Amino acid sequence: MAHLLQHLIHLIFPNLCLVCNENLVGGEESVCFSCLSKLPYTDFHLHSANEVEKRFWGKFPVEHATSLYHYKKATAGQYLLHALKYKGEKQVGTLLGRQLGLHLSQSPFYQDIDLIVPVPLHPKKYRKRGYNQSECICDGIADVLQAPVDATNLVRLIENPTQTRKGVYERWENTKGIFGLVDASVFAGKHILLVDDVLTTGSTLEACAQAILEAPNARISVVTLALA
Ligand SMILES: [Zn+2]
Repeated sequence: MAHLLQHLIHLIFPNLCLVCNENLVGGEESVCFSCLSKLPYTDFHLHSANEVEKRFWGKFPVEHATSLYHYKKATAGQYLLHALKYKGEKQVGTLLGRQLGLHLSQSPFYQDIDLIVPVPLHPKKYRKRGYNQSECICDGIADVLQAPVDATNLVRLIENPTQTRKGVYERWENTKGIFGLVDASVFAGKHILLVDDVLTTGSTLEACAQAILEAPNARISVVTLALA
């Protein structure tokens, strides 16, 4: 309900901060600088073997990984993700993507990224939503890192995989074939920055990684806006 009311206010007054409803001033878009600065940033981009990286250990070889901020219920970070995913606020993805890009540009680990790749939606879901929220985040990151976005080579083949609580091997079997590459040679020898909106179990990112690793000598780093 609070989300809905907030959304209505923003529709009527587009020049107000999505979070605090204060007037936006010069240079501010969608979210004011004050609200942006108050997000619970992880700063994991500066640390290897951080909590995000560790989530992928034993699942696939990850170069580096980070999330921009900690996801907490009933906070600005949650509200912004919701606006990006379900309220058509695409520009929130670009804005937070730029913020993430600024962090990555200050880290030694993301200086050699060749391609920025969003977790793809199934075509049916893409048609329904009209955009891929992860691709919006990629656009923001690309603005800062000056690396190209490739949103067409990694594709989602299966819409809804059955999620089960099984062992590592069964889970691997279960996620195999959800994603695929149009042309493995495009990713060959490249350092791929795989991008999603939120990290929860990591199984979607793991399934993407399996597909990307079909490209010879591809390396993968992973970034998300939020860490749940
Ligand atoms: Zn604000």
